[in-house]
Amino acid sequence: MSGASSASQASAGCTANMHGRDNLSILRERGQREVFCGLTGIIWLHRKMQDAFFLVVGSRTCAHLLQSAAGVMIFAEPRFATAIIEERDLAGMADCQDELDRVVTQLLERRPEIKTLFLVGSCPSEVIKLDLAKAAQRLGQQLAGDVRILNYSGSGIETTFTEGEDACLASLVPEMADSADDAARQLLLVGSLPDIVEDQFLRLFAQLGIANVSMLPARNASDLPAIGPNTHFLLAQPFLGETSRALQDRGAQRISAMFPFGAEGTTAWLRAAAHCFDIDEMHFNSVVAKPRERAKRAIERSLPKLAGKRISFLPDSQLEVPLARFLANEAGMEPLEVGTPYLHRGLLAEELEALPKAIQLSEGQHVDKQLDRVREAKPDLTVCGLGLANPLESEGLSTKWAIELVFSPIHGFEQAGDLAELFARPLRRRDVLEV
Ligand code: SF4
Repeated sequence: MSGASSASQASAGCTANMHGRDNLSILRERGQREVFCGLTGIIWLHRKMQDAFFLVVGSRTCAHLLQSAAGVMIFAEPRFATAIIEERDLAGMADCQDELDRVVTQLLERRPEIKTLFLVGSCPSEVIKLDLAKAAQRLGQQLAGDVRILNYSGSGIETTFTEGEDACLASLVPEMADSADDAARQLLLVGSLPDIVEDQFLRLFAQLGIANVSMLPARNASDLPAIGPNTHFLLAQPFLGETSRALQDRGAQRISAMFPFGAEGTTAWLRAAAHCFDIDEMHFNSVVAKPRERAKRAIERSLPKLAGKRISFLPDSQLEVPLARFLANEAGMEPLEVGTPYLHRGLLAEELEALPKAIQLSEGQHVDKQLDRVREAKPDLTVCGLGLANPLESEGLSTKWAIELVFSPIHGFEQAGDLAELFARPLRRRDVLEV
């Protein structure tokens, strides 16, 4: 290997809607998939968690993926690396656990600022059954008090790229202390958001009168909040099913809500929290009125390009359902097929309720069949993975890279115009090329 207020105060607004629309017609597909693996999440997670380090235990392919995806953004020594499993490791000639100890020790000696070290599993480490949980436990005991050592899998076997963040955040949940029985109620925002967006939301919650707000992930290891039945959590991303379950197992309560995309989604998301924390409706309306109006006006700038256009989503980021809801209800687009790798009915209950009924939902991927349907329907815009975009463009179909929607700040009122513009841009480019 080479180195490189209490729970009883919960109001009715805090209960989770577990079922959503019952009359959904969902096409379930299984076949070849075209998605990035969970290692991709390291690109945005390492920027968010400022004293964490991500050590992928993988192959040169894994290292190349990370370097090519993040390389252009490296201005300082990066906080991720790959411990490469060499042929002698694969052949069983070396003890991978010993090798890993050596790499980790070297790394931590050189980078004493690291407070959380994630050992990230990959396809190769899973294939050779390298037990990273055991390694994390052993190293954690050796380094107790200095560095928190955790592990999760970013492998591409049967997973999609946003599951990397879910697995990472879920690994943090057992590290959160138990909150005191008489602790004040707290709001926990769950999901990695760009700092600027996080700060906007924190300002809005403060204006609403919800002062006790924490984040998962926290920017620094020492800010990891305590949790318990007094914690009400609000997901900022729809792909955090495992994290949500882990938090609920610790007694925290999920606030069921739409996701904060667009003026309406953001209003509904904030309102769900305000309702849970018994914020007066008139006060809520006075706080959100101006930013909501600003968001609507910003979205309007893209409407001439978007309204009436047909759009299809191939399954990729797990953001597909909330984005289709936003585009249909706030931008006048007509979603045809909305494919998603996994459809979590509980987390998406409000989104599914708000989605126009005529949309074909599909779960899972059979890439050939889905491409055939796209070719037949000829939507104005297809949201898909990078690998599928160029072939579709060469056939005259306009595309949007799904991964760009995860890398760009798109949550909240102030980003609503940019979110609409992300979909308008490829349509505008197509019109220019056609002239
Ligand atoms: S984890 Fe698997 S899919 Fe991802 S880069 Fe490594 S080998 Fe490829």
